[in-house]
Amino acid sequence: MSSLQLTGGWIEVIAGVMFSGKSEELMRRVRRAIIARKKVQVFKSHLDDRYAGLFSVSSHDGRSVDAIPVDSSAQVAARIDPMAHVIAIDEAQFLDDGICDLATTLASRGRRVILAGTDTDFRGEPFGPMARLMAISELVDKLHAICVLCGAPACRNQRLIDGEPAAWDSPVIMVGGKEAYEARCRACHIVRRKDEGQGRLF
Ligand code: ADP
Ligand code: ZN
Repeated sequence: MSSLQLTGGWIEVIAGVMFSGKSEELMRRVRRAIIARKKVQVFKSHLDDRYAGLFSVSSHDGRSVDAIPVDSSAQVAARIDPMAHVIAIDEAQFLDDGICDLATTLASRGRRVILAGTDTDFRGEPFGPMARLMAISELVDKLHAICVLCGAPACRNQRLIDGEPAAWDSPVIMVGGKEAYEARCRACHIVRRKDEGQGRLF
């Protein structure tokens, strides 16, 4: 993280591909805020209620916070504790654009807002509100995973359907087929396009 001394409220984004350690980094920051005796709230989108208790952060002095499952920015807004100093949100890419205004409002009210999310989808395009969040934040850390094919720093999510690279226009929700994701570098990332081979840029 930058050595910038921020005062008042601000927004921090932890961006990167799957497996780049965004959740680990988010939890590290949350743990340190707990040690600093700040009141912290953690939200996580796409978290099944049944697993909510499994996603918790504790510090060595035994204090802990559980992640609150949310599906929308409105749900985050409705569950904000007015006493919280630090608001951490994991899997922010699945939330709607309203999360940008909410983060701005919270920061302008003196809160530290930390958002972690996958910044690109399987096509390598900006994912949900992440691009805007990265633009409006004071701090951005872009993390990398390791490319499973060549070992280089990985910046892309490779989507595989039944073991094959997914096509550009493949359905976002798969019915039937077996789906998997891998971290890959730009050179090893494959997205099959319909117009492949018809007219090249260079
Ligand atoms: P994210 O939140 O970015 O998806 P996590 O914090 O959940 O990442 O997981 C990061 C961990 O994933 C790493 O510490 C490492 O143990 C593991 N991991 C699995 N595959 C890879 C990979 N290809 N590159 C780097 N780490 C990987
Ligand atoms: Zn590679």
